[in-house]
Amino acid sequence: MNSGSALLGENIFSLMKKYDKPGPRYTSYPTAPMFNSDFGPENYREEIVRSNSKNNSTDLSLYFHIPFCDTLCYFCGCTTVVTKNRERVGEYIVYLKREIDMLASEVSNSRRIVQMHWGGGTPTYLTPSEVSDLTQHIRNRFNFADDAEVSVEMDPRDLSFEHIQALRANGFNRVSMGVQDFNPDVLSAINRNQGEELTRKVIGWTRAVGINNLNLDLVYGLPLQTVESFEQTLDKIIEVSPERIAVYNFAYVPWMKPHQKLINPDELPSPEIKLKLLTMTIEKFTHAGYVYIGMDHFAKENDELTIAQKSKTLQRNFQGYSTKAGYDLFGLGMSSISHFTTNYAQNSKTLGEYYQAIDHNRYATEVGYRMSHDDQLRKYVILRLMCDLTLNFQDVENKFSIKFEECFHESLQKLEPFIEDNLLERTAGELLVTMQGRLFLRNIAMCFDAYLNKVSKDKPVFSRTV
Ligand code: SF4
Repeated sequence: MNSGSALLGENIFSLMKKYDKPGPRYTSYPTAPMFNSDFGPENYREEIVRSNSKNNSTDLSLYFHIPFCDTLCYFCGCTTVVTKNRERVGEYIVYLKREIDMLASEVSNSRRIVQMHWGGGTPTYLTPSEVSDLTQHIRNRFNFADDAEVSVEMDPRDLSFEHIQALRANGFNRVSMGVQDFNPDVLSAINRNQGEELTRKVIGWTRAVGINNLNLDLVYGLPLQTVESFEQTLDKIIEVSPERIAVYNFAYVPWMKPHQKLINPDELPSPEIKLKLLTMTIEKFTHAGYVYIGMDHFAKENDELTIAQKSKTLQRNFQGYSTKAGYDLFGLGMSSISHFTTNYAQNSKTLGEYYQAIDHNRYATEVGYRMSHDDQLRKYVILRLMCDLTLNFQDVENKFSIKFEECFHESLQKLEPFIEDNLLERTAGELLVTMQGRLFLRNIAMCFDAYLNKVSKDKPVFSRTV
């Protein structure tokens, strides 16, 4: 079993100073800042046609972005619309249904939906009847597999038991809930009024209706977090015993998310404390029987994520780690991202532009990206490292008809310091990320990124890696 103390070692703080810098989380490659307006609505339509004509991987994933939130959490990095005017939700659903109809009329109905996810914002900002209405609209237009994974992000604030019943009745079988921290001072510092009792009550409701796949999200690096306070939060999470836990590094990017300036920077934990929070998290969760997946997820031994990591079929996408491999993903709603084998497409990031596109009966694609052969190769290498923590050169050579060491000569040179620092091992035909190296996984992946210099010339667009 992995131990957090093995992670620390004597040299960990000097390693942190050496490697800590802005870098992507690699939920895609190339990363979103590389998307451009050369890819528009007509290209998106062409991709749908191409996607229909593929002989394999005909199953699909759907993602719906529900951007609304009642109040603004100061740490938030999502694309949100903060409003107390619930009529705006009704208007959004009307447009979303029109986009659904447009897409459903072009996607072959022989293709099964094997995964649907609602993210946000706060999908449960919808009323229970809006949840039912929207789900039925989607289900009436797409062909869902009987065992489809249907998941939603929930916010326990303003959530009723009727919401949970509506989700269950409409086939949602996996829920993800933001806890962030149980400490009231930390929650107050991020403007998130979410009492522990409320969180526990909502978890009880989901289990009572039979939704037994629960993921809880925590964030480390938040203002006022201390090792002692976060330890108490971790103990409480272990007691609640969710199937999965995601523990995200707070992405402090006030130059990109100006509301983060509402956080007092003097209250942020130092990099040394952040590292202690992370290593303590890994130690406590692995002792409690969770398996450490990739760089920020934990799952129970028998969970699909754990099985996928062991069998090297784990995937990484915009929602983090996933077990659904190789399916085209259609993203609907403002700012959502679609992902095809060789293309990305992203919808407009404001409600006004999104509505305007739908009013003109066209897709709301604002930017996108066409991957070259080199992009596909680098994407494969980066995502396999992020998911498997190993990379077999022969496997890459077989898939892409290249000579790995020739093709990645420069990347392998950049990796040498990581090997010297025991963060990575290199054998004749393989790279292996060590336990301590997992803390620097983003830095290791960055050695294979061809675009880093292009996206960060003026000011950093990524959060710090450690
Ligand atoms: S953290 Fe979640 S609930 Fe808070 S503002 Fe962001 S999306 Fe909304």
